Amino acid sequence: MPEGDTIFRAAQTLHRVFAGKVVTRFESVYPHLTRIDADRPIAGRTIESVASVGKHLLMTLSGDLILRTHMRMNGSWYVYPTGAPWKRPARDMRVLIGTADAVAVAFNVPVAEFLTARELSRHRQMRALGPDLLGAAFDRAAVAAAIQTRRDPIADVLLDQRVLAGIGNVFKSEILFIAGVHPFERAAALRAEQIGRIVEVAREQLRANVLPASRTLSSAIGRRTTRSLNPAEKLWVYGRGGQPCRRCGASIESRAMGVDARLTFWCPQCQKSQG
Ligand SMILES: [Zn+2]
Repeated sequence: MPEGDTIFRAAQTLHRVFAGKVVTRFESVYPHLTRIDADRPIAGRTIESVASVGKHLLMTLSGDLILRTHMRMNGSWYVYPTGAPWKRPARDMRVLIGTADAVAVAFNVPVAEFLTARELSRHRQMRALGPDLLGAAFDRAAVAAAIQTRRDPIADVLLDQRVLAGIGNVFKSEILFIAGVHPFERAAALRAEQIGRIVEVAREQLRANVLPASRTLSSAIGRRTTRSLNPAEKLWVYGRGGQPCRRCGASIESRAMGVDARLTFWCPQCQKSQG
């Protein structure tokens, strides 16, 4: 699942390439988008900005129209010079926005809609979003206090975008390993300094993973939480069930949890349960 850092990098790249440019071409397989294009044409509008809010990507066009996309599990945005071959099959295209120089193609993006600024401000999912870990106005104390009130396992709480926007399944396991906290510990049972550490690590890791954006925006680019230069040692625990812990050698454990049975990974030695 794309995480906050991936969406943030995608938005940065799209903003760099497209901000201030005039749209010359618009296509989509979604009738609710092409209907709006027919009524209020997208071509001819200027792309004013592209930004991420949590895991939502917002492209603001002149004339009060905002394209909101959410990548969910498999969606991605790619940028190609106009006329260049795509590296993904055309049948996966969901939305395409082109200018004279470049095209932005959203592949397998399941959520896409046009909104006015007023509609966006009233949007239920957007209003429900917790503080963005990559946002400038991030308030650690408020987020820590919100986490402390929850009775669910801390691993579930970190994925709840209403508490904290930007953490996906990979970072969830990595952050808890670095913070030394067992993933199934109830949030409300954690000490204040443990929660403070989790929030600090979460912000550090997401920021560290916002690398200079590359042209290709796949979800796996550059993500690393260890400082190892060995590309095979990028992550501490995620995807490493049964392998030895990079710190203590204990066998990494994994378990499916939550409604969609996403896997959680942890080291039983470095992340001791208090209960
Ligand atoms: Zn360990």
